[in-house]
Amino acid sequence: MKDQVRLLSVKDLRVHFSQKKSGGLGKPLLIKVVNGVSFEVFQGETLGLVGESGCGKTTLGRAIMRLGNPSVTGTIEFDGREISGMGNRAFRSIRKQMQMIFQDPFGSLNPRLTVGQMLGEVLSVHGIAKGEKARTRIDELLNLVGLNREYYNRYPHEFSGGQRQRLGIARALAVNPKFIICDEPVSALDVSIQSQIINLLADLQRDLGLTYLFIAHDLSVVEHISDRVAVMYLGKIVEVASSKELYENPKHPYTKALLSAIPNPEPGMKKERILLHGDMPGPMNIPPGCSFHPRCPVALPECSSREPVFRELRDNPGHCVSCILYE
Ligand code: SF4
Repeated sequence: MKDQVRLLSVKDLRVHFSQKKSGGLGKPLLIKVVNGVSFEVFQGETLGLVGESGCGKTTLGRAIMRLGNPSVTGTIEFDGREISGMGNRAFRSIRKQMQMIFQDPFGSLNPRLTVGQMLGEVLSVHGIAKGEKARTRIDELLNLVGLNREYYNRYPHEFSGGQRQRLGIARALAVNPKFIICDEPVSALDVSIQSQIINLLADLQRDLGLTYLFIAHDLSVVEHISDRVAVMYLGKIVEVASSKELYENPKHPYTKALLSAIPNPEPGMKKERILLHGDMPGPMNIPPGCSFHPRCPVALPECSSREPVFRELRDNPGHCVSCILYE
């Protein structure tokens, strides 16, 4: 951990959606997408949040930013202030300090606005700059994300995927945030471009003192940028550790399976792949006991009836896991 000052603290967060049954009869179904998640993000660090598609990681990020309209319980504290119960007006000033970068940069940019209009609008709406000052700030932002200032009059469709993600990053930086949720920011990009964007995010973090929650479905993506990594399965965090510890000494069988899927970088060196049975069930069919038990290669009989406790390993402070084998 680079710094012990806590910037974000999430406690027992639950995000549920209700869905009408077909025909509209009876009680609506409750879909528990995030199901009791607690974690902290310290100032200046990157916490990687990893799990298969559908595990609830994006919903978790969106709930922190108050996007969408789910039912949210639990507490969220940002920079020492409890924000989950805050009215929308008070939250607006906090929202400026928390930004989000999205997976699909094209979908998140208005196709009818030029770069100058898009960034100018953000600066104006937040009362940061107008006119000449805004132009100067936009030039600065383009420079920060490695884009030419002459792109000012171009439209999003004139850029490549990597350039569009740079624009998404510039838009997030326009309001001088402290904290950015990066929601799969490189998943839609070619592998060669992915490392450029990750390096850019790492440079910006160092230069601007940013803090990141970096969401990805693949452990190999978050390895180099994360100080700590949290692994999520079916709406819950099942393991958290420093990046080095998690990659060298994983404990949870799910983390071990995800790590075994990363190809070995040394040619000729083969890794034994841990294959999981079946797919992750949906949030409407959460299995009892340990929700991972139907797929777990080392499940015990009690795993189907008893939910493991998420706890810190006795001999390894900071490494927490939710598995009966480590209780
Ligand atoms: Fe596997 Fe049981 Fe541990 Fe769950 S509690 S991960 S089923 S061993």
